[in-house]
Amino acid sequence: MNNPAPAQPAELVARLRATFRAGKTKPVAWRTEQLHRMRTLLTEQGETFAEALHADLGKSSTEAYRTEIDFVIREIDHTLEHLDGWLRPEPAPVPAFIGEARAWTQYDPLGVVLVIAPWNYPAQLLLAPVAGALAAGNAVVAKPSELAPATSAALARLVPQYLDTDAVAVVEGGVPETTALLEQRFDHILYTGNGTVGRIVMAAAVRHLTPVTLELGGKSPAFVDRGTDLDTVAARLAAGKFLNAGQTCVAPDYVLTDPETARALEASLAKAVEGLYGSDPAASPEYGRIVNERHFDRLTALLDSGRQVTGGAHDRETKYIAPTVLAEVSPDAQVMQEEIFGPILPIVEVAGLDEAIDFINDRDKPLALYAFTDSDATRERLAAETSSGGLGFGLPLAHLTVSDLPFGGVGESGMGSYHGRYSIETFSHRKAVLAKPL
Ligand code: NAD
Repeated sequence: MNNPAPAQPAELVARLRATFRAGKTKPVAWRTEQLHRMRTLLTEQGETFAEALHADLGKSSTEAYRTEIDFVIREIDHTLEHLDGWLRPEPAPVPAFIGEARAWTQYDPLGVVLVIAPWNYPAQLLLAPVAGALAAGNAVVAKPSELAPATSAALARLVPQYLDTDAVAVVEGGVPETTALLEQRFDHILYTGNGTVGRIVMAAAVRHLTPVTLELGGKSPAFVDRGTDLDTVAARLAAGKFLNAGQTCVAPDYVLTDPETARALEASLAKAVEGLYGSDPAASPEYGRIVNERHFDRLTALLDSGRQVTGGAHDRETKYIAPTVLAEVSPDAQVMQEEIFGPILPIVEVAGLDEAIDFINDRDKPLALYAFTDSDATRERLAAETSSGGLGFGLPLAHLTVSDLPFGGVGESGMGSYHGRYSIETFSHRKAVLAKPL
């Protein structure tokens, strides 16, 4: 079946709400069927998505499968395996003065959920929340990013061929279309993107008292301790930073380390980049491109924020910016004023751990904090004395592939979380029930 002709947002939401009210989305059998169908969509149409992701972001097929297609399949499989258990009502002890009675909590679906996705992982960041919302028994309106037009078109064309069109709709478009959607009453909105639009989404949600999950970004620091194996550190840092040409919300944004370690790390990072993409990353099929000219121009303006250790080459025509490492970067440099969201890795020098902790706490709470250290005491201090959406020791990005960990930010990096059972919590109401015999 094709996506129904683009209805007015009010009609669309009314139609999905009618499906929800009729009870169609609530049975666990319907939910698991939708998850299986989404899984089939991803396996049968994997190549279509990989091609679209290549057209939008120059993503290699390996990267498209690893970070988008197979990522969502894993999330679906994990949910299918555990959904019954997650949904099981949880008994609660009843106080004696009530006498004979039972009490429990149960997860109720919320109704119609709106998912608004960004362009950087345009398939994953749309489909993973949709999978969670469906697993929780909701109807869903999904709005892909207009800045990844090939992926957006593929989603709009294919999702209705696989999922139940009575309950799931993909609405393409940019600001006007999203603004029109946001005028409707939803029962939950999950938005992934930047904080400026996050505020617009939250302000729109206020009118209907709709709860929001805001998956935002920010500058995620990576602290490198003295005395660590810097070749290993550099290899992992570079792999995490330059994936998707640095356009990853949880990418290490900048490095914090002492001056002596910084000098040695520079050389290791240059080596690591070459190990990943060869001497000419422009020729590597594994290296991505910047999403559009606006971001290309924004990023190239940051390239002289420090001494270039490696990289710096760029080509506007192909939206290529080489993996770039900048040393001796001042905290006042332009590159340290905003989330970089591109393939530029500044190294900022601090005296040591105390100053690093202050540096982190003086700024917005990051979506992720990374630390490379062999010291348990240092790990414990970072865990106890800083706040971030997630915390990764020794390996960037990996925490978000653990389906049993909540994925979300805190403060400026967002509110709420999802993935695995946390998607059920986000897209459900935990209802309190008491039952006393008559
Ligand atoms: P984007 O420009 O694609 O915008 C995201 C969505 O918001 C799109 O669907 C877009 O159509 C919509 N939108 C844009 N302007 C709007 C407006 N005025 N009103 C209503 N809707 C509007 O993506 P972006 O914001 O450039 O994404 C990059 C940001 O997202 C970075 O800050 C990054 O760190 C963050 N991010 C966070 C996560 C996460 O999971 N926490 C994941 C990816 C990206």
